[in-house]
Amino acid sequence: MANEIDLILRSPKAYEWARKAMDAMEANSVWPTAINFELWLHYVAAKDSEVAAEIDQIIRSGERFTEQMGDAIAVNHLPSAKLNGEILDAGKSLSAELDTVSRAIESARETSEAYGQQLASATEVLEEQDSEAVRNMVDTLSAATLKVREENQALQSQLADTTDELSRLREHLEQVRRDAMTDALTLLFNRKAFDEALEKACNEAAKTHGVVTLAIIDIDHFKVFNDTWGHQTGDQVIRYVASVIARVSEGTRVAARYGGEEFAIIFPGEDRHVAMAVVEKAREEISTRILKRRSTNEELGTVTISTGIAESVRGEQPVMLIERADGALYAAKRNGRNRTAIADKNAESKAA
Ligand code: GH3
Ligand code: MG
Ligand code: MG
Repeated sequence: MANEIDLILRSPKAYEWARKAMDAMEANSVWPTAINFELWLHYVAAKDSEVAAEIDQIIRSGERFTEQMGDAIAVNHLPSAKLNGEILDAGKSLSAELDTVSRAIESARETSEAYGQQLASATEVLEEQDSEAVRNMVDTLSAATLKVREENQALQSQLADTTDELSRLREHLEQVRRDAMTDALTLLFNRKAFDEALEKACNEAAKTHGVVTLAIIDIDHFKVFNDTWGHQTGDQVIRYVASVIARVSEGTRVAARYGGEEFAIIFPGEDRHVAMAVVEKAREEISTRILKRRSTNEELGTVTISTGIAESVRGEQPVMLIERADGALYAAKRNGRNRTAIADKNAESKAA
């Protein structure tokens, strides 16, 4: 199947097929990511493939083609996506597996403890009896009880060790999962986590007839800053800007590093006025702070940020919301930078 697509992409009609795939993606509000492109190329160019059948089924059901659906199809059918998906899934299923094992161990521990207690109380009762035969039986039972108790204790300590090991493993897995969602330079959420959070917030807004507001923030003239002070100092500034953004977006907001020197804040259930106030707070703080090189204390001047804000219109998909926020960001840049612009509902933007 992959071969078939490879051939199509190297045929004289390659661009024609690629355009058809892009058109189909656009018509269905699907992100033109590399994985989606490959999937939708199957849809237009390999009509009888399993991938095409699955996409067709989703379209016909009237459901929206979400990132998760795309990932699921890719993991099942595209060899390149399979590995990544398997690694993530392994994390999830191992975690579930560990839960089950932990519970089984705990219940075995309780059962064996209860058994030990029963034997102990039976022994006490028997010891009160007087006859020779009973006494012999008591001796035998006592010895057996003692042995079972000792074995139980050994087992319990083994089980405790295993449970500890399991919870260490679980913590490790949890850490791996967090790392996969985190941008290493800034410790904000990364692009993948952002995409997932925005999709979730848009779905929630659509379901509850509420809103979600998106802010896309970009450092102004950052190329010049890098060229003047060097990339490493640039990285420090990205970290600084990220820390301010993280601080102003506490609570249910999701702050992410969206790209190189671009950030995004998702405001689930909050409108553009709230977002404006939050972003303006960050903008003022950043633009008035005189930056210094850490090692030498040398003054580097200030940096500024520009932001585009878009509040969702009813049932708006992430792709459109991002496009409008991006449009507003562009307007903020065009109008002189170091400012925040709000997107009109009809995608036109005006700078504040
Ligand atoms: P504008 O005001 O229009 O946004 O101008 P700009 O120079 O910021 O925009 P442009 O997109 O032309 O350049 C972005 C620059 O950001 C390019 C690159 O030097 C810098 N940059 C992107 N990612 C990183 C990063 O991770 N670290 C550092 N130090 N610089 C980065
Ligand atoms: Mg940029
Ligand atoms: Mg920039």
